[in-house]
Amino acid sequence: MITLALSKGRIFDETLPLLAAAGITIDEDPEKSRKLILGTSRPELRVVLVRASDVPTYVQYGGADLGVAGKDVLIEHGGEGLFQPLDLRIAKCRMSVAVRDDFDYAAAVRQGSRLRVATKYTLTARQHFADKGVHVDLIKLYGSMELAPLTGLADAIVDLVSTGSTLKANHLVEVERIMDISSRLVVNQAALKLKREPIRRLIDALGAAVSKEVA
Ligand code: ATP
Ligand code: MG
Repeated sequence: MITLALSKGRIFDETLPLLAAAGITIDEDPEKSRKLILGTSRPELRVVLVRASDVPTYVQYGGADLGVAGKDVLIEHGGEGLFQPLDLRIAKCRMSVAVRDDFDYAAAVRQGSRLRVATKYTLTARQHFADKGVHVDLIKLYGSMELAPLTGLADAIVDLVSTGSTLKANHLVEVERIMDISSRLVVNQAALKLKREPIRRLIDALGAAVSKEVA
């Protein structure tokens, strides 16, 4: 048996067409069922549903052989024990710094004042500001980062942006783009050795599906 870890929502939705291109369908729609383990059209392949940020952990410890995780999540996890053979080019967005539209970010950075930055992505944020030589106090949040500058909790946030409409709706502006984000296929390194053939076949089929999407 091979186990693939996916998270509900955009990663599940955008992995589905890649699996379909590889001739694999999932037996149930996670939005309609409460099951956490789903069968597929391949008897030897099953899908487990976990939180997006738990995918690397499941794969690292062998709770799943493979998984799909965003680069954002992989950076924060550290990638230990994970083989990352494929950029699936799905769930694309960017990691950015945003502030209130009336906050003079350039001046704050220029003056060398200590910035208060709220984020779920503390490792990425710490690295980004260290590279710029900007002193920051990081405030760890688990969601609704947009609220932090509006309530005075923080001067800036580091968060994922795709269209920018959430920022705009909350009177925030993107002032720096830190990196482009997409989701990758991650594989447990021991499983890659023990179940080499079926895992290789799946990686190759997904790789071919990605190339076809790009072409
Ligand atoms: P959870 O809901 O468990 O707290 P999450 O909010 O990070 O986790 P999703 O919103 O499903 O989970 O996001 C999963 C992944 O999709 C993220 O890790 C990121 O790589 C990508 N992603 C997040 N937000 C966006 C976005 N606005 N546009 C495109 N991709 C995104
Ligand atoms: Mg989310």
